[in-house]
Amino acid sequence: MYTMKRKKQNPIKLIGMCLALFVLLVLLFLLMRLVLSNPKAEERASCGPQFNEKSGEIGTVTPEPTIVDLYAYFDWTETTKIKVYDHRADKLVDMDLEEYIVGVVSAEMPAYYSFEALKAQAVASRTYTLYSVAHGGCHTNPDADVCTNSKCCQAFSTHERMRNTWKADYAANYNRVAQAVMETAGEVLTYEGKLCDALYHACSGGQTEDSEHVYANALPYLRGVMSPYEDPMREEDVEIGTDALLELIASKYPESRITKDNVRDGIAIEAAYESGRVETVRLGKTTVTGKQARNLFGLRSTMFTIEWTNKGIVFHTKGYGHGVGLSQNGANGMAKRGSDYREILLHYYTGVTISGFGADGIVQKPSPTPGDTDIAFVPEG
Ligand SMILES: [Zn+2]
Repeated sequence: MYTMKRKKQNPIKLIGMCLALFVLLVLLFLLMRLVLSNPKAEERASCGPQFNEKSGEIGTVTPEPTIVDLYAYFDWTETTKIKVYDHRADKLVDMDLEEYIVGVVSAEMPAYYSFEALKAQAVASRTYTLYSVAHGGCHTNPDADVCTNSKCCQAFSTHERMRNTWKADYAANYNRVAQAVMETAGEVLTYEGKLCDALYHACSGGQTEDSEHVYANALPYLRGVMSPYEDPMREEDVEIGTDALLELIASKYPESRITKDNVRDGIAIEAAYESGRVETVRLGKTTVTGKQARNLFGLRSTMFTIEWTNKGIVFHTKGYGHGVGLSQNGANGMAKRGSDYREILLHYYTGVTISGFGADGIVQKPSPTPGDTDIAFVPEG
């Protein structure tokens, strides 16, 4: 009996011990969970060097940058759709106008320019685009409204190009440009109720040009105006040695009959416009336009003077581009001195109205009067 009693006690003891062990394990498990879910422990885990599974390297993992969602901002049933020929990818793409304008402003103006200058560029580019749509579209691609080749229509950046160009600043720059486009959404320039051919260029060199001095048409809103705040002012000296100069002229204008003996007397600026842009240049027995001379000698603009050195000729150039309409650097300079985008646009495009453009076409929406649009000559603040 006694032995049996002892034998009966043993299983109870064992069960007790098992229970105690089980409770201990449960407690240990709970303790482990508590430690692992400690926010401070998580914080430590996500800080500092991380293992990058893709590259297999230890490095800090940077989160994907957040960019403005244009599709959350616009009512896209209200915006215009356009056909864009992407000359790099060689394909025709259907795009929403405002999305296209973000890509154009990104490519046509440095994103670090003053915000009001970016807004002025957005309105100019939107107007240029819709003017193109209304006038038969892109000249070199009949199926397209516009193309992405800056030599034909306007430059354009895809997201991929923006990432490659801007790198770490991609999100910040994109958001800045997108904001400028959103704040001017649907705004266009009109003259007597019609869309303007809103030409623009990088830098005027101090004064813009009457359209008929560069292109065929004399347009009332494309008049030469003073542009005193070019920022930066693009000045460049182009030096060409005498032998290279003779070769260059002979290749394009053999009828000039310029030789080493008569070259110094043979080249001269014959006529210039009031702005200082060269109208005609005499090349020996022939005369070329300022534009032809610019192309021949690879100059940034037709605003140049000539100087001879013992090595050859030096072209002193001012400005960058054709000089008609909005000057981008001039817009940047005005914005830095407190002008808003409306003042900038009404300065560079004579007598225009800032109108709205939507599904119904041009609508005269009340745009605040910018007041005196003459540039006040004030130093940069
Ligand atoms: Zn084109």
